[in-house]
Amino acid sequence: MIFNKIIFLTLILIFTSSLAVKAQSDEDVEKVGEIFDNVLTQSSCYNWLHYLCKNIGHRIAGSPNGAAAVEYTRQMLDTIGCDNVWLQPVKVPYWTRGAVAECRIINSKTLGTLDLSVVALGYSAATNPVGISGEVIEVKSVSDLEKMDEAKVKGKIVFFNTPMDPTKISTFSAYGEAGHQRTSGPKKAAEKGAIAAIVRSLTLKADDVPHSGVTIFDEGKEIPAVGIGIQSAERLSALLKSESHTNVYLRLDCKKHKEQLTYNVIGEIKGSVEPEKIILIGGHIDSWDIGEGAHDDGAGCVQSMEVLHVFKRLRIKPRYTIRCVLFANEENGLKGGSTYAEEAKKKGEVHIAAIESDGGGHTPRGFGMDAVPELLKGAYSKAQKWREILAPYGFYELVTGGSGADIGPLKNQNVVLFGYRPDSQRYFDYHHTANDVFESVHKRELELGAGGIAGLVYLIDKYGF
Ligand SMILES: [Zn+2]
Repeated sequence: MIFNKIIFLTLILIFTSSLAVKAQSDEDVEKVGEIFDNVLTQSSCYNWLHYLCKNIGHRIAGSPNGAAAVEYTRQMLDTIGCDNVWLQPVKVPYWTRGAVAECRIINSKTLGTLDLSVVALGYSAATNPVGISGEVIEVKSVSDLEKMDEAKVKGKIVFFNTPMDPTKISTFSAYGEAGHQRTSGPKKAAEKGAIAAIVRSLTLKADDVPHSGVTIFDEGKEIPAVGIGIQSAERLSALLKSESHTNVYLRLDCKKHKEQLTYNVIGEIKGSVEPEKIILIGGHIDSWDIGEGAHDDGAGCVQSMEVLHVFKRLRIKPRYTIRCVLFANEENGLKGGSTYAEEAKKKGEVHIAAIESDGGGHTPRGFGMDAVPELLKGAYSKAQKWREILAPYGFYELVTGGSGADIGPLKNQNVVLFGYRPDSQRYFDYHHTANDVFESVHKRELELGAGGIAGLVYLIDKYGF
């Protein structure tokens, strides 16, 4: 009899606790729905992006435009009623591309002179003022170059022509694989005595728009280095097959300047229960110095600001502190992210989670997750439950591996990291180009992303890790 009673009570307990779980998840579904409804009808993020792109424009860290973007976003965070808004000083390297980027084939028997579409890579050296010319050698990869005899490379212009792999469905993965030819190829060419480097643009679009991006040299050993449009790269490659001694002329007037002072822009809503614990959301305020930095990463900045704004509009009182950080210098040094993590460690700040939006403003797909191994498994299975709540809004993916470059340094401080993952198919049409302008961002897609990040923050804040 007693045994039956125990079974009966156990069943009641299971039934009532499953009812409680159901009620809790209904409440979450309702709240996340309310967040999306509000963002899709009341958001300011598209207007903020318009101002950043059209009134300020591109904004490499340390530049006057960069300073204007810091001040504008600081004011906006203040206006929406954050509890605290401040600027965190960050020292950054500063480089300018100048006004000239000329590149042409000069001695083709069949084509004569032919202009090539190029843009200087970040940290490229200038050529001498009248330009340089040299014979081009094409390499299929950086490791190909490494195997070559120095005598074959010395005095030449090395042309890296590895395409992004079109069979990779995520273009972020394809970019990750091909990216090293831009980041380290020119340095390897310089080490073998090359006088310049030309790098195939990292895109799958078959246009002729050249892509910039950082290339890393040893101090004082910089050579001129350019990104070349895909059509120009194909033409040059085809010509090299029939005319092996093809010469190219190149003129650039880039300049490296002394270190500059800029800032991470920070705003927060204080937690109502455990204010000393922080959930961070962010993007990077700097952009390359062409285009308007709309997708990269104006979109991520305004989405992050929007999370705080929707919490304020809906009068959500978070348990933990919700902090928006717009990082400095992601594109050419990552000093904003590293400074933030160092300061957090020094102050003993506790971050529960950090979410970065730096994959563009396209339609949502989900989130990537990262953490130290002992933390990741548990956090991932918890977040899987939240995925079901966000999936109706297009947030289907939750994958491990990859978060964001600026929040990466927080990983070893036991922080669960998330990277917002929008659809990747058109991102590299714009990335680091003159085409990354306001008009390329779709208002609704931008807002859906902001809604999903806000929904995730709401769930992390409610359940923690
Ligand atoms: Zn970016």
